[in-house]
Amino acid sequence: MATQFNETKISVIEGIYAQQKSHYLAIGKTTASERIQKLTRLRDTIFTFRKELQDAMWKDYRKPAAEVDLTEIYPVLQEIKFASKHLKRWMKPKRVARPITMIGSSSWIQYEPKGMSLIIAPWNYPMQLLFAPLVSAIAAGNTVILKPSEFTSHTVAILKSIVSETFEEKEIAVVEGGVEVSTALLNLKFNHIFFTGAPDIGKIVMAAASKHLASVTLELGGKSPTIIDQTANIKAIVPRIAWAKFVNAGQICIAPDYAIIHESKKEEFIQSMGQQITKHYGEDIMKSSDYLRIISSKHFLRLKGYLENSLEQGGKIAYGGTLYEPENYIEPTLVENVPLDSDLMKYEVFGPIFPVITYKDRKEVVDLINSKEKPLALYIYSQNKKNIKYFIENTSAGGTCINMSAVHVGNPNLPFGGINNSGIGKSRGHYGFLEFTNERSVLHQKLPSAIEFMAPPYTKLKQRLVDITLKYF
Ligand code: NAD
Repeated sequence: MATQFNETKISVIEGIYAQQKSHYLAIGKTTASERIQKLTRLRDTIFTFRKELQDAMWKDYRKPAAEVDLTEIYPVLQEIKFASKHLKRWMKPKRVARPITMIGSSSWIQYEPKGMSLIIAPWNYPMQLLFAPLVSAIAAGNTVILKPSEFTSHTVAILKSIVSETFEEKEIAVVEGGVEVSTALLNLKFNHIFFTGAPDIGKIVMAAASKHLASVTLELGGKSPTIIDQTANIKAIVPRIAWAKFVNAGQICIAPDYAIIHESKKEEFIQSMGQQITKHYGEDIMKSSDYLRIISSKHFLRLKGYLENSLEQGGKIAYGGTLYEPENYIEPTLVENVPLDSDLMKYEVFGPIFPVITYKDRKEVVDLINSKEKPLALYIYSQNKKNIKYFIENTSAGGTCINMSAVHVGNPNLPFGGINNSGIGKSRGHYGFLEFTNERSVLHQKLPSAIEFMAPPYTKLKQRLVDITLKYF
Protein backbone atom coordinates (compact mmCIF):
# COMPACT_ATOMS: atom_id res chain seq x y z
CA MET A 1 0.00 0.00 0.00
CA ALA A 2 1.44 3.38 -0.99
CA THR A 3 1.78 5.96 1.76
CA GLN A 4 5.12 7.65 1.02
CA PHE A 5 5.10 10.28 -1.67
CA ASN A 6 7.48 12.67 -3.37
CA GLU A 7 7.05 16.41 -3.15
CA THR A 8 8.03 18.70 -5.99
CA LYS A 9 9.90 21.68 -4.56
CA ILE A 10 7.99 24.96 -4.64
CA SER A 11 10.90 26.59 -6.52
CA VAL A 12 10.61 23.88 -9.22
CA ILE A 13 6.86 24.48 -9.48
CA GLU A 14 7.46 28.22 -9.88
CA GLY A 15 9.98 27.45 -12.63
CA ILE A 16 7.49 25.28 -14.52
CA TYR A 17 4.79 27.91 -14.09
CA ALA A 18 7.09 30.64 -15.46
CA GLN A 19 7.94 28.49 -18.49
CA GLN A 20 4.28 27.79 -19.20
CA LYS A 21 3.43 31.47 -18.78
CA SER A 22 5.84 32.44 -21.52
CA HIS A 23 4.62 29.63 -23.77
CA TYR A 24 0.83 29.44 -23.40
CA LEU A 25 0.04 31.89 -26.20
CA ALA A 26 2.05 29.80 -28.67
CA ILE A 27 0.28 26.60 -27.52
CA GLY A 28 -3.04 28.37 -27.97
CA LYS A 29 -2.27 29.07 -31.63
CA THR A 30 -1.77 25.40 -32.53
CA THR A 31 -4.02 23.93 -35.22
CA ALA A 32 -6.42 21.03 -34.81
CA SER A 33 -3.97 18.73 -36.64
CA GLU A 34 -1.13 19.68 -34.30
CA ARG A 35 -3.28 19.01 -31.23
CA ILE A 36 -4.44 15.69 -32.66
CA GLN A 37 -0.78 14.74 -33.15
CA LYS A 38 -0.15 15.46 -29.48
CA LEU A 39 -3.11 13.31 -28.45
CA THR A 40 -1.85 10.52 -30.68
CA ARG A 41 1.60 10.74 -29.06
CA LEU A 42 -0.04 10.55 -25.64
CA ARG A 43 -1.99 7.46 -26.72
CA ASP A 44 1.16 5.77 -28.02
CA THR A 45 3.10 6.46 -24.82
CA ILE A 46 0.23 5.11 -22.70
CA PHE A 47 0.41 1.84 -24.67
CA THR A 48 4.15 1.67 -24.03
CA PHE A 49 3.56 1.94 -20.28
CA ARG A 50 0.55 -0.40 -20.05
CA LYS A 51 2.36 -3.11 -18.08
CA GLU A 52 4.02 -0.58 -15.74
CA LEU A 53 0.64 0.99 -15.05
CA GLN A 54 -0.83 -2.43 -14.19
CA ASP A 55 2.05 -3.24 -11.84
CA ALA A 56 1.95 0.16 -10.15
CA MET A 57 -1.79 0.07 -9.45
CA TRP A 58 -1.48 -3.44 -8.03
CA LYS A 59 1.18 -2.13 -5.65
CA ASP A 60 -0.89 0.92 -4.73
CA TYR A 61 -4.13 -0.86 -3.85
CA ARG A 62 -4.26 -4.24 -5.54
CA LYS A 63 -6.16 -3.05 -8.58
CA PRO A 64 -6.48 -6.03 -10.95
CA ALA A 65 -4.79 -5.68 -14.35
CA ALA A 66 -8.14 -6.09 -16.15
CA GLU A 67 -9.58 -3.17 -14.20
CA VAL A 68 -6.53 -1.03 -15.02
CA ASP A 69 -7.23 -1.74 -18.69
CA LEU A 70 -11.00 -1.27 -18.47
CA THR A 71 -11.39 1.58 -16.02
CA GLU A 72 -8.16 3.56 -16.36
CA ILE A 73 -6.62 3.07 -19.80
CA TYR A 74 -9.75 2.48 -21.89
CA PRO A 75 -11.64 5.66 -20.78
CA VAL A 76 -8.58 7.82 -21.57
CA LEU A 77 -8.10 6.18 -24.98
CA GLN A 78 -11.80 6.70 -25.67
CA GLU A 79 -11.49 10.40 -24.81
CA ILE A 80 -8.46 10.70 -27.11
CA LYS A 81 -10.25 8.96 -29.98
CA PHE A 82 -13.44 11.00 -29.54
CA ALA A 83 -11.60 14.34 -29.31
CA SER A 84 -9.35 13.51 -32.29
CA LYS A 85 -12.39 12.62 -34.40
CA HIS A 86 -14.35 15.79 -33.59
CA LEU A 87 -11.70 18.40 -32.83
CA LYS A 88 -11.69 20.14 -36.25
CA ARG A 89 -15.44 20.72 -35.93
CA TRP A 90 -15.23 21.80 -32.28
CA MET A 91 -12.55 24.39 -33.07
CA LYS A 92 -14.24 25.78 -36.18
CA PRO A 93 -15.65 29.27 -35.59
CA LYS A 94 -19.44 29.08 -35.46
CA ARG A 95 -21.37 31.68 -37.38
CA VAL A 96 -24.50 32.91 -35.59
CA ALA A 97 -27.49 34.96 -36.74
CA ARG A 98 -27.87 38.69 -35.94
CA PRO A 99 -30.94 40.80 -35.14
CA ILE A 100 -32.30 43.07 -37.89
CA THR A 101 -31.02 46.14 -36.03
CA MET A 102 -27.47 44.88 -36.60
CA ILE A 103 -27.80 44.71 -40.34
CA GLY A 104 -24.45 45.16 -42.06
CA SER A 105 -22.55 43.03 -39.56
CA SER A 106 -21.74 39.36 -39.13
CA SER A 107 -21.21 37.49 -35.86
CA TRP A 108 -19.46 34.31 -34.85
CA ILE A 109 -18.12 32.42 -31.85
CA GLN A 110 -14.39 31.81 -31.82
CA TYR A 111 -13.19 28.91 -29.66
CA GLU A 112 -10.03 30.15 -28.00
CA PRO A 113 -8.14 28.33 -25.23
CA LYS A 114 -8.56 29.65 -21.70
CA GLY A 115 -4.75 29.57 -21.45
CA MET A 116 -2.94 28.21 -18.41
CA SER A 117 -4.75 25.40 -16.64
CA LEU A 118 -4.31 23.37 -13.48
CA ILE A 119 -5.74 19.86 -13.02
CA ILE A 120 -5.93 18.40 -9.49
CA ALA A 121 -6.98 14.75 -9.24
CA PRO A 122 -7.98 12.22 -6.55
CA TRP A 123 -6.57 8.74 -5.95
CA ASN A 124 -9.50 6.46 -6.71
CA TYR A 125 -8.96 6.42 -10.50
CA PRO A 126 -5.47 7.89 -10.50
CA MET A 127 -4.95 7.76 -14.26
CA GLN A 128 -8.46 8.22 -15.64
CA LEU A 129 -9.27 11.27 -13.52
CA LEU A 130 -5.95 12.96 -14.32
CA PHE A 131 -5.70 12.17 -18.03
CA ALA A 132 -9.34 12.44 -19.16
CA PRO A 133 -9.42 16.18 -18.34
CA LEU A 134 -5.87 16.44 -19.73
CA VAL A 135 -7.20 15.28 -23.12
CA SER A 136 -9.82 18.07 -23.02
CA ALA A 137 -7.18 20.65 -22.02
CA ILE A 138 -4.84 19.60 -24.84
CA ALA A 139 -7.70 19.57 -27.36
CA ALA A 140 -8.64 23.10 -26.29
CA GLY A 141 -5.01 24.31 -26.66
CA ASN A 142 -4.05 24.96 -23.02
CA THR A 143 -0.85 24.53 -21.07
CA VAL A 144 -1.36 22.21 -18.10
CA ILE A 145 0.11 21.55 -14.68
CA LEU A 146 -1.14 18.19 -13.38
CA LYS A 147 -1.30 17.45 -9.64
CA PRO A 148 -2.21 13.81 -9.03
CA SER A 149 -3.15 12.49 -5.59
CA GLU A 150 -0.37 11.74 -3.12
CA PHE A 151 -1.97 8.39 -2.17
CA THR A 152 -1.03 6.40 -5.28
CA SER A 153 2.70 7.08 -5.43
CA HIS A 154 3.63 4.03 -7.58
CA THR A 155 1.09 5.02 -10.21
CA VAL A 156 2.05 8.70 -10.05
CA ALA A 157 5.68 7.80 -10.88
CA ILE A 158 4.48 6.10 -14.10
CA LEU A 159 2.06 8.91 -14.98
CA LYS A 160 4.94 11.35 -14.58
CA SER A 161 7.11 9.28 -16.94
CA ILE A 162 4.30 9.14 -19.51
CA VAL A 163 3.91 12.92 -19.45
CA SER A 164 7.63 13.73 -19.47
CA GLU A 165 8.24 11.31 -22.37
CA THR A 166 5.45 12.91 -24.38
CA PHE A 167 5.57 16.63 -23.62
CA GLU A 168 7.95 19.41 -22.73
CA GLU A 169 7.42 20.94 -19.28
CA LYS A 170 6.72 24.32 -20.79
CA GLU A 171 3.54 22.74 -22.14
CA ILE A 172 2.47 19.96 -19.76
CA ALA A 173 4.07 18.90 -16.47
CA VAL A 174 3.25 16.69 -13.49
CA VAL A 175 4.03 18.01 -10.02
CA GLU A 176 3.87 15.72 -7.01
CA GLY A 177 2.76 16.26 -3.46
CA GLY A 178 -0.09 16.61 -1.01
CA VAL A 179 -1.97 19.50 0.53
CA GLU A 180 1.08 21.77 0.74
CA VAL A 181 1.91 21.47 -2.95
CA SER A 182 -1.76 21.75 -3.88
CA THR A 183 -2.06 24.93 -1.82
CA ALA A 184 1.06 26.41 -3.44
CA LEU A 185 -0.39 25.69 -6.87
CA LEU A 186 -3.71 27.24 -5.94
CA ASN A 187 -1.91 30.46 -5.00
CA LEU A 188 -0.72 30.82 -8.60
CA LYS A 189 -2.81 32.59 -11.19
CA PHE A 190 -4.31 30.04 -13.58
CA ASN A 191 -6.99 30.74 -16.17
CA HIS A 192 -8.85 27.52 -15.40
CA ILE A 193 -8.75 25.02 -12.54
CA PHE A 194 -10.19 21.55 -13.01
CA PHE A 195 -10.56 19.80 -9.66
CA THR A 196 -11.83 16.30 -8.89
CA GLY A 197 -12.26 15.35 -5.25
CA ALA A 198 -14.33 15.81 -2.12
CA PRO A 199 -16.92 18.61 -1.82
CA ASP A 200 -15.16 20.14 1.22
CA ILE A 201 -11.89 20.43 -0.72
CA GLY A 202 -13.86 21.73 -3.72
CA LYS A 203 -14.87 24.70 -1.55
CA ILE A 204 -11.19 25.41 -0.76
CA VAL A 205 -10.36 25.25 -4.48
CA MET A 206 -13.21 27.58 -5.40
CA ALA A 207 -12.21 30.08 -2.71
CA ALA A 208 -8.60 30.04 -4.01
CA ALA A 209 -9.80 30.44 -7.61
CA SER A 210 -11.87 33.47 -6.59
CA LYS A 211 -8.68 35.36 -5.69
CA HIS A 212 -7.73 35.40 -9.38
CA LEU A 213 -11.28 34.95 -10.71
CA ALA A 214 -10.12 31.76 -12.41
CA SER A 215 -12.94 29.67 -13.80
CA VAL A 216 -13.40 26.25 -12.20
CA THR A 217 -14.70 22.82 -13.03
CA LEU A 218 -15.43 20.97 -9.81
CA GLU A 219 -16.05 17.24 -10.10
CA LEU A 220 -17.15 16.33 -6.59
CA GLY A 221 -19.00 13.54 -4.81
CA GLY A 222 -21.80 12.81 -2.42
CA LYS A 223 -24.42 10.19 -1.69
CA SER A 224 -25.70 8.69 -4.96
CA PRO A 225 -28.94 6.78 -4.29
CA THR A 226 -30.14 3.60 -6.00
CA ILE A 227 -33.94 3.45 -6.09
CA ILE A 228 -35.46 -0.02 -6.54
CA ASP A 229 -39.24 -0.06 -6.80
CA GLN A 230 -41.73 -2.92 -6.48
CA THR A 231 -41.74 -3.59 -10.25
CA ALA A 232 -37.94 -4.09 -10.54
CA ASN A 233 -36.76 -7.48 -11.77
CA ILE A 234 -34.32 -8.27 -8.95
CA LYS A 235 -32.56 -11.21 -10.66
CA ALA A 236 -31.87 -9.10 -13.74
CA ILE A 237 -30.71 -5.95 -11.97
CA VAL A 238 -28.58 -7.32 -9.13
CA PRO A 239 -25.49 -8.00 -11.34
CA ARG A 240 -25.59 -4.35 -12.47
CA ILE A 241 -25.77 -3.04 -8.91
CA ALA A 242 -23.27 -5.47 -7.34
CA TRP A 243 -20.73 -4.67 -10.05
CA ALA A 244 -21.06 -0.88 -9.69
CA LYS A 245 -21.03 -0.96 -5.90
CA PHE A 246 -18.04 -3.25 -5.35
CA VAL A 247 -15.75 -2.62 -8.32
CA ASN A 248 -12.74 -0.62 -7.01
CA ALA A 249 -14.04 -1.72 -3.55
CA GLY A 250 -16.75 0.91 -3.78
CA GLN A 251 -14.21 3.75 -4.03
CA ILE A 252 -15.99 5.43 -6.91
CA CYS A 253 -17.64 8.84 -6.97
CA ILE A 254 -20.64 7.43 -8.85
CA ALA A 255 -20.89 4.16 -6.93
CA PRO A 256 -24.39 3.40 -5.62
CA ASP A 257 -24.01 4.90 -2.13
CA TYR A 258 -27.18 3.45 -0.61
CA ALA A 259 -30.16 1.46 -1.84
CA ILE A 260 -33.68 2.65 -1.20
CA ILE A 261 -35.87 -0.29 -2.02
CA HIS A 262 -39.60 -1.07 -1.82
CA GLU A 263 -40.09 -3.15 1.32
CA SER A 264 -41.66 -6.01 -0.67
CA LYS A 265 -38.35 -6.57 -2.53
CA LYS A 266 -35.81 -6.26 0.27
CA GLU A 267 -35.36 -9.93 1.23
CA GLU A 268 -35.00 -11.09 -2.39
CA PHE A 269 -32.56 -8.25 -3.08
CA ILE A 270 -30.28 -9.01 -0.14
CA GLN A 271 -30.23 -12.72 -0.93
CA SER A 272 -29.48 -12.14 -4.64
CA MET A 273 -26.78 -9.59 -3.86
CA GLY A 274 -25.03 -12.12 -1.60
CA GLN A 275 -25.10 -14.76 -4.37
CA GLN A 276 -23.85 -12.25 -6.93
CA ILE A 277 -20.95 -11.12 -4.73
CA THR A 278 -19.89 -14.77 -4.37
CA LYS A 279 -20.10 -15.14 -8.16
CA HIS A 280 -17.79 -12.16 -8.63
CA TYR A 281 -15.22 -12.83 -5.90
CA GLY A 282 -15.64 -16.46 -4.78
CA GLU A 283 -16.29 -17.90 -1.29
CA ASP A 284 -13.09 -16.47 0.23
CA ILE A 285 -13.13 -12.86 -0.94
CA MET A 286 -9.92 -11.93 0.88
CA LYS A 287 -8.06 -14.36 -1.35
CA SER A 288 -9.62 -13.02 -4.55
CA SER A 289 -7.15 -11.20 -6.79
CA ASP A 290 -10.13 -9.36 -8.31
CA TYR A 291 -11.09 -7.49 -5.15
CA LEU A 292 -9.33 -4.29 -4.11
CA ARG A 293 -8.19 -2.96 -0.75
CA ILE A 294 -9.10 0.37 0.82
CA ILE A 295 -6.52 2.93 -0.27
CA SER A 296 -5.18 3.93 3.16
CA SER A 297 -5.59 3.18 6.84
CA LYS A 298 -7.18 6.64 7.24
CA HIS A 299 -10.00 5.65 4.89
CA PHE A 300 -10.17 2.12 6.38
CA LEU A 301 -10.69 3.62 9.86
CA ARG A 302 -13.22 6.12 8.52
CA LEU A 303 -15.31 3.29 7.03
CA LYS A 304 -14.91 1.12 10.12
CA GLY A 305 -16.17 4.06 12.20
CA TYR A 306 -19.23 4.59 9.97
CA LEU A 307 -20.09 0.90 10.21
CA GLU A 308 -19.69 0.71 14.00
CA ASN A 309 -21.70 3.89 14.47
CA SER A 310 -24.60 2.51 12.40
CA LEU A 311 -24.53 -0.87 14.16
CA GLU A 312 -24.52 0.84 17.58
CA GLN A 313 -27.63 2.73 16.51
CA GLY A 314 -29.58 -0.37 15.47
CA GLY A 315 -28.23 -1.22 12.00
CA LYS A 316 -27.79 -4.92 11.24
CA ILE A 317 -25.31 -6.65 8.95
CA ALA A 318 -27.28 -8.49 6.27
CA TYR A 319 -24.21 -9.74 4.36
CA GLY A 320 -20.44 -9.59 4.87
CA GLY A 321 -19.04 -7.47 7.69
CA THR A 322 -15.45 -8.84 7.86
CA LEU A 323 -12.71 -6.23 8.26
CA TYR A 324 -8.98 -6.95 8.38
CA GLU A 325 -6.96 -3.91 9.37
CA PRO A 326 -3.39 -5.04 8.48
CA GLU A 327 -4.50 -5.19 4.82
CA ASN A 328 -7.10 -2.40 4.83
CA TYR A 329 -9.55 -5.09 3.76
CA ILE A 330 -13.29 -4.59 4.04
CA GLU A 331 -15.56 -7.34 2.75
CA PRO A 332 -18.49 -6.31 0.51
CA THR A 333 -21.06 -5.57 3.20
CA LEU A 334 -24.82 -4.95 3.19
CA VAL A 335 -26.38 -3.24 6.21
CA GLU A 336 -30.13 -3.14 6.91
CA ASN A 337 -32.23 -1.16 9.44
CA VAL A 338 -29.74 1.68 9.11
CA PRO A 339 -30.92 4.75 11.04
CA LEU A 340 -31.11 7.77 8.74
CA ASP A 341 -29.17 9.91 11.19
CA SER A 342 -26.29 7.43 11.57
CA ASP A 343 -22.90 8.07 9.93
CA LEU A 344 -23.52 5.57 7.12
CA MET A 345 -26.48 7.64 5.92
CA LYS A 346 -25.03 11.06 6.82
CA TYR A 347 -21.75 10.88 4.89
CA GLU A 348 -20.65 9.67 1.47
CA VAL A 349 -19.64 6.00 2.00
CA PHE A 350 -16.93 5.76 -0.70
CA GLY A 351 -16.23 2.13 0.14
CA PRO A 352 -17.74 -1.37 -0.02
CA ILE A 353 -20.48 -0.87 2.58
CA PHE A 354 -24.03 -0.69 1.22
CA PRO A 355 -26.87 0.55 3.45
CA VAL A 356 -30.23 -0.86 2.35
CA ILE A 357 -33.15 1.41 3.30
CA THR A 358 -36.78 0.39 2.71
CA TYR A 359 -39.84 2.43 1.76
CA LYS A 360 -43.59 1.87 1.41
CA ASP A 361 -44.68 4.95 -0.49
CA ARG A 362 -42.66 6.51 -3.34
CA LYS A 363 -42.99 9.96 -1.77
CA GLU A 364 -40.73 8.73 1.05
CA VAL A 365 -38.03 8.13 -1.58
CA VAL A 366 -38.02 11.66 -2.95
CA ASP A 367 -38.33 13.15 0.54
CA LEU A 368 -35.20 11.24 1.64
CA ILE A 369 -33.22 12.18 -1.48
CA ASN A 370 -34.31 15.82 -1.35
CA SER A 371 -33.40 16.06 2.33
CA LYS A 372 -29.75 15.62 1.25
CA GLU A 373 -27.42 17.50 -1.10
CA LYS A 374 -28.09 16.98 -4.82
CA PRO A 375 -26.30 13.75 -5.77
CA LEU A 376 -23.67 13.21 -8.46
CA ALA A 377 -25.64 10.22 -9.77
CA LEU A 378 -29.08 8.77 -9.16
CA TYR A 379 -30.07 5.29 -10.31
CA ILE A 380 -33.63 4.12 -10.86
CA TYR A 381 -34.50 0.45 -11.15
CA SER A 382 -38.13 0.06 -12.23
CA GLN A 383 -40.31 -1.28 -14.99
CA ASN A 384 -43.00 1.27 -14.35
CA LYS A 385 -42.76 4.28 -16.68
CA LYS A 386 -44.84 6.47 -14.36
CA ASN A 387 -42.56 5.75 -11.42
CA ILE A 388 -39.44 6.44 -13.48
CA LYS A 389 -40.90 9.78 -14.61
CA TYR A 390 -41.96 10.58 -11.04
CA PHE A 391 -38.50 9.90 -9.59
CA ILE A 392 -36.77 11.96 -12.29
CA GLU A 393 -39.17 14.89 -12.10
CA ASN A 394 -39.14 15.12 -8.31
CA THR A 395 -35.38 14.99 -7.77
CA SER A 396 -32.24 16.58 -9.19
CA ALA A 397 -28.87 14.92 -9.87
CA GLY A 398 -25.72 15.37 -11.97
CA GLY A 399 -26.59 12.24 -13.98
CA THR A 400 -29.01 9.33 -13.97
CA CYS A 401 -29.12 5.77 -15.27
CA ILE A 402 -32.42 3.94 -15.61
CA ASN A 403 -32.09 0.19 -15.00
CA MET A 404 -28.31 0.51 -14.97
CA SER A 405 -25.58 1.94 -12.73
CA ALA A 406 -22.56 4.16 -13.35
CA VAL A 407 -22.00 3.61 -17.10
CA HIS A 408 -23.30 7.04 -18.14
CA VAL A 409 -19.75 8.29 -17.51
CA GLY A 410 -18.63 6.06 -20.40
CA ASN A 411 -20.74 7.76 -23.07
CA PRO A 412 -18.62 10.65 -24.40
CA ASN A 413 -21.72 12.19 -25.99
CA LEU A 414 -23.14 12.87 -22.51
CA PRO A 415 -21.91 15.63 -20.20
CA PHE A 416 -20.47 14.22 -16.96
CA GLY A 417 -20.60 16.11 -13.68
CA GLY A 418 -22.59 17.06 -10.65
CA ILE A 419 -24.76 19.90 -9.48
CA ASN A 420 -23.97 22.24 -6.58
CA ASN A 421 -22.48 20.10 -3.78
CA SER A 422 -21.73 17.26 -6.23
CA GLY A 423 -20.03 19.53 -8.73
CA ILE A 424 -19.95 22.60 -10.93
CA GLY A 425 -19.38 22.38 -14.69
CA LYS A 426 -19.29 19.29 -16.90
CA SER A 427 -16.55 17.16 -18.39
CA ARG A 428 -15.82 14.56 -21.09
CA GLY A 429 -16.04 14.81 -24.88
CA HIS A 430 -17.22 18.13 -26.27
CA TYR A 431 -18.28 19.29 -22.78
CA GLY A 432 -14.73 18.81 -21.51
CA PHE A 433 -13.34 20.75 -24.49
CA LEU A 434 -15.72 23.63 -23.72
CA GLU A 435 -14.64 23.76 -20.04
CA PHE A 436 -11.10 24.62 -21.13
CA THR A 437 -12.29 26.98 -23.88
CA ASN A 438 -13.36 30.60 -23.94
CA GLU A 439 -16.31 30.99 -26.29
CA ARG A 440 -15.27 34.39 -27.59
CA SER A 441 -17.98 36.53 -29.21
CA VAL A 442 -16.84 38.30 -32.35
CA LEU A 443 -18.87 40.84 -34.34
CA HIS A 444 -17.55 42.19 -37.62
CA GLN A 445 -19.14 45.43 -38.85
CA LYS A 446 -18.98 45.46 -42.64
CA LEU A 447 -21.40 48.27 -43.57
CA PRO A 448 -22.37 51.43 -41.70
CA SER A 449 -24.22 50.49 -38.53
CA ALA A 450 -27.78 51.46 -37.59
CA ILE A 451 -26.36 52.57 -34.24
CA GLU A 452 -24.49 55.38 -35.99
CA PHE A 453 -27.81 56.85 -37.19
CA MET A 454 -29.19 56.64 -33.67
CA ALA A 455 -26.44 58.56 -31.87
CA PRO A 456 -27.29 61.89 -30.15
CA PRO A 457 -28.77 64.40 -30.72
CA TYR A 458 -32.11 62.52 -30.40
CA THR A 459 -34.22 64.32 -32.96
CA LYS A 460 -37.94 63.73 -33.50
CA LEU A 461 -37.14 61.61 -36.55
CA LYS A 462 -34.82 59.38 -34.47
CA GLN A 463 -37.46 59.03 -31.75
CA ARG A 464 -39.97 58.01 -34.45
CA LEU A 465 -37.55 55.33 -35.69
CA VAL A 466 -37.15 54.02 -32.13
CA ASP A 467 -40.96 53.88 -31.76
CA ILE A 468 -41.24 51.86 -34.99
CA THR A 469 -38.44 49.50 -33.85
CA LEU A 470 -40.05 48.84 -30.47
CA LYS A 471 -43.29 47.84 -32.23
CA TYR A 472 -41.47 44.74 -33.53
CA PHE A 473 -41.28 43.31 -30.01
P1 NAD B 1 -9.64 14.79 -1.89
O1 NAD B 1 -10.57 15.93 -2.15
O2 NAD B 1 -9.17 14.55 -0.51
O3 NAD B 1 -8.30 14.95 -2.76
C1 NAD B 1 -8.34 15.32 -4.12
C2 NAD B 1 -7.12 16.15 -4.46
O4 NAD B 1 -7.14 17.34 -3.69
C3 NAD B 1 -5.80 15.45 -4.15
O5 NAD B 1 -4.90 15.68 -5.22
C4 NAD B 1 -5.32 16.13 -2.87
O6 NAD B 1 -3.92 16.19 -2.75
C5 NAD B 1 -5.91 17.53 -2.99
N1 NAD B 1 -6.21 18.12 -1.69
C6 NAD B 1 -6.62 17.47 -0.56
N2 NAD B 1 -6.79 18.34 0.44
C7 NAD B 1 -6.51 19.58 -0.05
C8 NAD B 1 -6.50 20.90 0.50
N3 NAD B 1 -6.84 21.13 1.77
N4 NAD B 1 -6.16 21.92 -0.31
C9 NAD B 1 -5.83 21.70 -1.59
N5 NAD B 1 -5.80 20.48 -2.17
C10 NAD B 1 -6.14 19.43 -1.42
O7 NAD B 1 -10.38 13.53 -2.50
P2 NAD B 1 -9.94 12.02 -2.51
O8 NAD B 1 -9.99 11.46 -1.14
O9 NAD B 1 -8.67 11.89 -3.28
O10 NAD B 1 -11.16 11.40 -3.39
C11 NAD B 1 -12.41 11.14 -2.83
C12 NAD B 1 -13.46 12.18 -3.14
O11 NAD B 1 -13.42 12.56 -4.49
C13 NAD B 1 -14.87 11.65 -2.91
O12 NAD B 1 -15.67 12.66 -2.33
C14 NAD B 1 -15.36 11.35 -4.32
O13 NAD B 1 -16.76 11.34 -4.48
C15 NAD B 1 -14.71 12.44 -5.09
N6 NAD B 1 -14.57 12.06 -6.50
C16 NAD B 1 -15.31 12.70 -7.44
C17 NAD B 1 -15.21 12.31 -8.76
C18 NAD B 1 -16.01 12.97 -9.86
O14 NAD B 1 -15.71 12.75 -11.03
N7 NAD B 1 -17.02 13.77 -9.56
C19 NAD B 1 -14.34 11.29 -9.12
C20 NAD B 1 -13.60 10.66 -8.12
C21 NAD B 1 -13.70 11.05 -6.81
